[in-house]
Amino acid sequence: MMRKIGPLTILAIAALVFGLLPLPAYWVTLANYIGLYAIVALGLVLLTGVGGLTSFGQAAFVGLGAYATAYLSTAHGLSPWLGLVIGLAVTAASALFIGAIMLRLSGHYLPLGTIAWGLSLYYLFGNMEFLGKYDGLAGIPALSLFGLDLGSGNSMFFLIWAILLVSIALLRNLLNSRSGRAIRALKGGGLMAEAMGVNTAAMKIRIFVIAALLACVSGWLYAHLQRAVNPSPFGLNSGIEYLFMAVIGGAGYLWGAILGAFVLTVLKDQLQSILPGLLGSNGNFEIIVFGILMVILLQYARNGIWPFIARWLPQRPEAVAPDAADSLPRRAMPEPGQPLLVIDKARKQFGGLVAVNDMVFTVNSGDIVGLIGPNGAGKSTMFNLVTGVLPVTSGEIRFRSGGALQRIDSLPSREIVQLGIGRTFQHVHLLPEMTVLENVAIGAHLRAKHGVVASSLSLDRGEESALLFEARRQLERVGLGGMLYEQAGNLALGQQRILEIARALCCDPALLLLDEPAAGLRYKEKEALATLLKKLKGEGMSILLVEHDMDFVMNLTDRLVVMEFGTKIAQGVPSEVQQDPAVLEAYLGGIE
Ligand code: ADP
Ligand code: MG
Repeated sequence: MMRKIGPLTILAIAALVFGLLPLPAYWVTLANYIGLYAIVALGLVLLTGVGGLTSFGQAAFVGLGAYATAYLSTAHGLSPWLGLVIGLAVTAASALFIGAIMLRLSGHYLPLGTIAWGLSLYYLFGNMEFLGKYDGLAGIPALSLFGLDLGSGNSMFFLIWAILLVSIALLRNLLNSRSGRAIRALKGGGLMAEAMGVNTAAMKIRIFVIAALLACVSGWLYAHLQRAVNPSPFGLNSGIEYLFMAVIGGAGYLWGAILGAFVLTVLKDQLQSILPGLLGSNGNFEIIVFGILMVILLQYARNGIWPFIARWLPQRPEAVAPDAADSLPRRAMPEPGQPLLVIDKARKQFGGLVAVNDMVFTVNSGDIVGLIGPNGAGKSTMFNLVTGVLPVTSGEIRFRSGGALQRIDSLPSREIVQLGIGRTFQHVHLLPEMTVLENVAIGAHLRAKHGVVASSLSLDRGEESALLFEARRQLERVGLGGMLYEQAGNLALGQQRILEIARALCCDPALLLLDEPAAGLRYKEKEALATLLKKLKGEGMSILLVEHDMDFVMNLTDRLVVMEFGTKIAQGVPSEVQQDPAVLEAYLGGIE
């Protein structure tokens, strides 16, 4: 099958032509710097734009790459290529170390930590005797590749841009994969990602390391282009400029990195020649203009400049579901009629408020159980206890997996979903800018195994087809087969809930937890949902659902558990519960 000529190929040809034309040296220098900066900004697109983690410390990683090769090649006569390998190793180790400390802490600790890291490394470079203090190191050899000398700016152009374009290709592959979807799901806060089995902490460290490695490569190239290094380009100022580039270009888009590097480099170059004349004195005035530009941008174009260009380009979905593919592994459904989920005096207190008060009930396999009760009764909290989103204050929760009941009340969400509990959320958690198909594919995260490296190298394509095919199959099953490539955010709220059911089905659950699945659905859609749930039950699935629509619940469920103020007030088959005086009083009475 022929692939269409993509933007990457076009850019590669353009770069080749640019490199071969006899252009002024000044242009080549500019292009080299744009390439070097874009490699760093690319890491920030992954880390900040896609992953939602801000780093001001990228310039320090550039410095590590530059100083490693500068020192080893000048003081010890080591090959620059060995210098690259050692630089990457040192960078990976420091990024792992910093990441392991900072990423555990939420909120502003990472940006603050990276500022501290950027500052301290700058002073370290400037005060180390063997690194030449603030004068730095000179006499760095030129690179050579297969006997070819890369001493000229023109030959470095080819190397820099080849590395940039290869990096884009690798990251593009990565983002369109199982790991990539997990990375894109980090931004929503990680609750949903963890519920789908993603280890978000490990994933954050991975993208932090990847971004650092890209910065290191840029530093290595810089050292051999300049043939001398000193601390000044690796300070906090540069760390901020890299962030500007990513944000101004469009931090959510790989192309935004090149665009941002281009705009800022050209602008800086122009401003540095114009501003001092205008203002009558010397100084880094361009940083003021960048600051103003940034403020304007955040006001009017939060996603940077790239979306304005992308609007004119042909759009096609990156992830397309095949018509057929290998099927993913499936779990054996538990024997019907056995206790599957056992809630044993589960309790949850928020300070003085008892949201779930020593609840006791059981879901048998093959049953549809309804959990009902007025608003604020504690139903969603109960769900969060079962799925490990919240820890229990006391009591036990057990789930049958591999034949035996086991305690799950101290497990994290991602391990609970692995045991076979899939869930939806009362307040939908999806990634509005991703397609419906990709959103649902996140659900199948644990049924595949290719990681970051394999995905970047495109070694995961068979598995990826199987994942997307499974997502498509589940979407067709719930009746959203016609909307695979819609942006999830464009769906009506009711449809978004149905999307979440498809995503939960992708987890290959034995027990499905649905929190108000019928809310926002029209009559016909509710009927279709009831039919679907009955069909799932017929296939051996067990379901625990919270729902307000009484007709819906009464006709669908095998048993009901009624909660009020955190406490169970009744349970039984629907017809019994409907007659229960306590229930009529507390709940049904209030409605009719
Ligand atoms: P339901 O889903 O039955 O409407 P919830 O489980 O959402 O009820 O809420 C039960 C009670 O617990 C409510 O009073 C709610 O305000 C409280 N609650 C829920 N989550 C939290 C939380 N994270 N912190 C404090 N109180 C909470
Ligand atoms: Mg609720």
